[in-house]
Order: sequence, then C-alpha cells, then structure tokens
Amino acid sequence: MTAHIIDGKAFSAKVQQMVTDHVTAMTADHGITPGLAVVLVGEDPASEVYVRSKGKRTVEAGMNSYEHRLDATTSQAELLALIDHLNADQSVHGILVQLPLPDHIDSALVINAIDPAKDVDGFHISNVGLLGTGQKSMVPCTPLGCLMMLRDHHGSLSGLNAVVVGRSNIVGKPMAQLLLGDSCTVTIAHSRSKDLAAICRSADILVAAVGRPEMITGDFVKEGATVIDVGINRIATPEGKTRLVGDCHYDSCAAKAGAITPVPGGVGPMTIACLLANTLTACARSHGLPEPEGLTA
Ligand code: NDP
Repeated sequence: MTAHIIDGKAFSAKVQQMVTDHVTAMTADHGITPGLAVVLVGEDPASEVYVRSKGKRTVEAGMNSYEHRLDATTSQAELLALIDHLNADQSVHGILVQLPLPDHIDSALVINAIDPAKDVDGFHISNVGLLGTGQKSMVPCTPLGCLMMLRDHHGSLSGLNAVVVGRSNIVGKPMAQLLLGDSCTVTIAHSRSKDLAAICRSADILVAAVGRPEMITGDFVKEGATVIDVGINRIATPEGKTRLVGDCHYDSCAAKAGAITPVPGGVGPMTIACLLANTLTACARSHGLPEPEGLTA
C-alpha cells in the first residue's frame, strides 16, 4: 500500500489563512484585533526560535503580538505580577508562557495564574478539567492540530479505534480526550504497556507521542491505518550532521499505513497555526462573537 502523505505544511497554511480571513473580518466589522502575549524567561536557544516564529506568524495573521522577554534571574513574584497585568489588559486575548521555565520558578503555579479564558496553550487546570468533561475549553495546540488533520482526512472519526502512545499532559492525554470527544474508541499506551506492538496494530488511528526516535515501526501498524507522528527528535547522521526524525520509522510505517504525517512537515507546522486559531477563538469568546468555524475542537 502507498500511504497518502498528510501534508501538515500545506494544511497549516490553509488554517493560517482561515485565521487571517476571520481576523480581517473581525477588525473590519467590529474594530477588534486579537492580541497574543508571549512571555519568555531566560535565553534557551530553542525557546528563542519558537518565540520569534510565533511572533512573526501572529503578525502575519493580522493580530497584535506582544513579546515579553525577561531575564533568567526574574523572580517568580515578578513573573506572576506580569501575568496579572496581562490578565487585566483588554488588548491581550491570549497569553503563552514559553516552557520550560528556569528551575527556581514553579511552572504549574505560573500556568494556573493565567486567566483560563486567555490560556491559549490549554494547560491551565480549569481547561484540562473542561476538556476532560467534554465542555468548551481552550485546547492544547499540538493535539488540536492532530485532530484537525484527522478530521480533514477522515471526515467523521466516529467508531474508529484510536491508540495514543504517550500519556503526557501536553500531548498524549489531551489527544486521547479529543479523540474520545469525536467518538473514537480510545486506548492510551505508555512505557509500562504490555505488547505495545499488538495494541498499536488494533488502531485505525495511531498517534505516536513518545519522544523516542523512530521507535514505532511498520510492525506496529495495521494495514491501511492512519499514522500521526507527533515526535520531533534530532539525531546524528553518519556524516556528523543532524537531522529531524519522528517517533515513527517513516519508511516502514508508510509501507503499511493508509495515510501518514511526515517529520518534518507534519504535525509540527500545525502547532503554531493552532496557537493562532486559539487566540482568535479566545478573542471571539471574550467579545461574545460567534466562534470561528473549523478552528476549534
Ligand atoms: P513526554 O516525554 O512528556 O512523554 C512521553 C510519553 O511517551 C510518556 O507518557 C511515556 O510513558 C511514553 N513512552 C516513553 N517511552 C516509551 C516506550 N518505550 N513505550 C511506550 N511509551 C513510552 O513527551 P511529550 O508528550 O512532551 O512529547 C512527545 C513527543 O512529541 C516528543 O518527541 C516531542 O518532541 C514531541 N512534541 C512535538 C510537538 C509538536 O509541535 N509537533 C509539541 C510537543 C511535543 P510514561 O508516562 O510511562 O513514562
């Protein structure tokens, strides 16, 4: 079987265009421009790249971008004071605190200080609870991106067997909740699961969020299944360079799958597109406007 390649780069461009169109209409019709505040503490090089990219894409979508770069020695109290300020700022509809934070700061405390209505990462405990009970929430960006791609490819997901490998709070668990919300029969597997390959072979939809380079091979994939590879791992090449690979061994999985997301160019690009979508959704909700269709869970 030749797998259909789910092109996350092209799909994320489509999502970003949808967001941009909504923002243009919102600004023209209501004089409202969504605003996203991103807070970076310290100088982690990977975080710097993400924050720059988020700011650029926010502006490209016609939204206001507010970057707050704080010194690595910033105290927890100072950071909490900034969050309070952003919570109260009417021009800010989304707040994202770039993780990881320095060790002297309690990340959970900071995340839970964000107004849940502005929590565009969907990590606030209130949003976790709302998602878990099937209520309207802010949904974590990476799993939302996976859900959008799956809906686009399959139409209805109802009744499909889904296996999510990984149970982290930012990917695995919310992914499983979203699939359950779309009426899949969901199994969550993790490092203690027995006979992982057999569990995975029961999946019509297999989501790999493991953080182990190329661990999921073709033996784990049912003929014709859809494989969503969330993993982003940088590995060394024999030439002494590095390259990005997913949690799935692409060639062997693609030989069995009906559809598959590549790495790079699959789930990765969807994450920022969904951050923009969440900021738009937060803004619409805060002004009592209809939610943007096709951009929410
Ligand atoms: P975590 O390390 O937080 O979680 C990994 C999960 O995989 C854990 O639940 C762990 O199980 C499970 N696991 C580890 N080893 C095995 C194994 N041998 N067999 C079965 N399960 C295993 O990672 P994240 O959820 O944060 O990220 C997962 C991947 O997704 C990473 O590659 C990360 O880089 C990528 N990622 C990509 C994003 C994107 O934008 N595309 C965004 C976020 C993450 P246990 O709980 O038992 O330890």
